[in-house]
Amino acid sequence: MQIVFLGTSGSWPTPKRNVSAVAIKRGPEVLLFDCGEGTQRQFMQSPLSFMQVSRVFLTHFHGDHFLGLPGMIQSMSMNGREVPLEVYGPRGIERLVSDLLSLGYFTPGFAVKSKELPPGGEIDCGEYTVRGVEAVHTVPCLSYVLEEKVRPGKFSLDRAEALGIPSGPLFSRLQSGETVRVGDRTIRPEDVLGPARRGRKIVYTGDTMPHEALLEFARHADVLIHDATTDAALEDKANRYGHSSSRQAAEIAKEAGVGRLILTHLSPRYEEPATILEDAKKVFPNVQVAEDFLSIEVPYPE
Ligand SMILES: [Zn+2]
Ligand SMILES: [Zn+2]
Repeated sequence: MQIVFLGTSGSWPTPKRNVSAVAIKRGPEVLLFDCGEGTQRQFMQSPLSFMQVSRVFLTHFHGDHFLGLPGMIQSMSMNGREVPLEVYGPRGIERLVSDLLSLGYFTPGFAVKSKELPPGGEIDCGEYTVRGVEAVHTVPCLSYVLEEKVRPGKFSLDRAEALGIPSGPLFSRLQSGETVRVGDRTIRPEDVLGPARRGRKIVYTGDTMPHEALLEFARHADVLIHDATTDAALEDKANRYGHSSSRQAAEIAKEAGVGRLILTHLSPRYEEPATILEDAKKVFPNVQVAEDFLSIEVPYPE
């Protein structure tokens, strides 16, 4: 799984940073979290393509998080897209998407399906789920968690051999959880598989102040991508506008016991993110400030 930061600025873009968008590539699929203005062009400078996007998750309807959507949909259509696009968001998403698609003379050549995700709501995507939790911002806003389902344990060739199971199709049937017969014996999957292995967990907060529910939501995430609009010196100001300081993001990361913390949505006032990083590092050392096009690999935990 690969996370690519396509926009890391809050409110408006700067020469170095575009507005919010985070792409997660998982297998052939790209999931897009937020789609600030110019996201389609950011894609072109990244290793990913906007044509691979299957689902878009908007955190909220401040312009720096969604204004790139109509342009990207138009380009998808002109590039011959036929498969439907799913767009999720907090309450009001259906109205927003229908308004965006009725601008000008454009009608997409594929279905754009918008769907509200209520706080606590979950989408089952087969091998993984995406869940939302209400963020604390100035308008309705969701934080999202992408969580893979548990995978079967490791197949033990030694144990299979000891049990006299011939290699071949029986192996894959056991691996996929089936009980099989060898001669007059019954072999159960647990006879040859180790303990089930957990999948990966990625949390994207969108715009939010720190709050209690986020702790449980982010618990033991492999990666926490957190609003860090300001450094600690401007914390009060950040909170007044429904944002977090990097220090507060680090507190959440520490208390939730996450693997690594990536800070994003920097206020355009910071030309250099040094103080943002320092303030977080004092609390949680495994932290990084995202730059546009930062790409990180998230390996399976085991
Ligand atoms: Zn924002
Ligand atoms: Zn906002």
